[in-house]
Amino acid sequence: MWEHQLSQLKRDNITIPLPTNIDGWEDDMKKWPKITYSCIFSYFLNSVASDGEAMNNLKSSEAYQYLHSNKVGPVLLKEVVGHNLIYLKADVEPSQSLKVPHHRAWVLVSASGEIQTAGCTCIAGKGRSCSHAAAILWKVNVDWSGSFNPLGPLKKKKLPLVSLGTTTSCGKRRL
Ligand SMILES: [Zn+2]
Repeated sequence: MWEHQLSQLKRDNITIPLPTNIDGWEDDMKKWPKITYSCIFSYFLNSVASDGEAMNNLKSSEAYQYLHSNKVGPVLLKEVVGHNLIYLKADVEPSQSLKVPHHRAWVLVSASGEIQTAGCTCIAGKGRSCSHAAAILWKVNVDWSGSFNPLGPLKKKKLPLVSLGTTTSCGKRRL
């Protein structure tokens, strides 16, 4: 479990700066890690212990709404050199057209697509899982599953069901 500190993330002997303290982000879809549905599911499931709202954030149509109404800005990427970790971040437009700043959400994933931790400037983001961080993950996931078409409007689709027989690096559930 990553410990969120004021300006850095810490786990065991590793400390890395928070995305707010990092420059040199890349806008390159080709470098996106392959984040599968089971990786997303397993992260939010494991977050339930610390945040009862986690699964609601994941399953909420809100996260999907952000995606389908193009409220998720460009997903920027930054490799954390030497740690096999990748930050993904995006600005997400608030769901209501209130005059509030965009939410700045981010996720930290391993190069193999395992979700490490997440954060956001919204209130729920302090719990490491909010619908904005989920929206980033869905955006990357949809691209890999081949149904994301950046040139046209996204068609509504149902959330995929968890396929129980598949084994991935994210199958380890700590429940
Ligand atoms: Zn958020």
